[in-house]
Amino acid sequence: MFKPIDWKEIYNTEYVNAPACWKTCGGYCCKNFYGEYFNILDKNGVSLPLLEKEYEYYKSIGGIKNITTPAKKRTFHLTNGKSFSIFLLSCNCGGLCEPHGHRPLICRIYPYFPVVDAFGTILDFEYAAMMDLFYRDPDSDHKCTLVREQAKKIKRELTVSLKPLLKDPEVVFVFRCLKELVDRLKQKMNKHIDTLDEAKLKKFIAKYEWMILSGKPWNDASFSQRIDAIYDEVKAAFDNKDFL
Ligand code: SF4
Ligand code: SF4
Repeated sequence: MFKPIDWKEIYNTEYVNAPACWKTCGGYCCKNFYGEYFNILDKNGVSLPLLEKEYEYYKSIGGIKNITTPAKKRTFHLTNGKSFSIFLLSCNCGGLCEPHGHRPLICRIYPYFPVVDAFGTILDFEYAAMMDLFYRDPDSDHKCTLVREQAKKIKRELTVSLKPLLKDPEVVFVFRCLKELVDRLKQKMNKHIDTLDEAKLKKFIAKYEWMILSGKPWNDASFSQRIDAIYDEVKAAFDNKDFL
């Protein structure tokens, strides 16, 4: 039997212990770092995904006062009849969200999200921001100081601090789907952003925008089948109970 997530506890957990790391990078992760090249997607806002129950908790505590644009709800339908939703916040606060203690989970676990098996065991980590996926050698080229200088320590800490969250099958399911989603995007993009000159970077971003808006990396039967299979695997791992 799994325990529902206590989002209050999650929002009181320190996932990445790196006080004032923003002083070393100009607050890179709180900015839309390639936004100036975007033609269609939001140039300024950082897009922050929240799970449905997280969003309910976030709203119940009053949210972040200087994020004023209403969250966008996106619902995903599995071919087995199940569905789940995420809420997307667009943050323009540049690191000064108020109150900072109300920032979403994705901000707390940056620079990584966990790659997990169906039981919620952490196998590895992947970059938490979409544009971070495209560095050639992230450990040395990445703009986040923690990735360049403290990757092992941060991953070790996240492996411990994320455990309570990974007792929930919906969270495990979403992280597994996210890994599938980013793998397909990386395959389609098939380039390293830090190796491109200005003209090629513009083309790369235009392609990226088209991929995101068209959904091309994920619009095929094999992706839907994979998501259904992930659902079944996670269900089997969690007492064979439906969780969506
Ligand atoms: S997590 Fe990384 S990118 Fe974000 S403020 Fe800290 S060092 Fe900078
Ligand atoms: S909510 Fe706060 S921590 Fe998250 S991106 Fe916005 S300013 Fe940064």
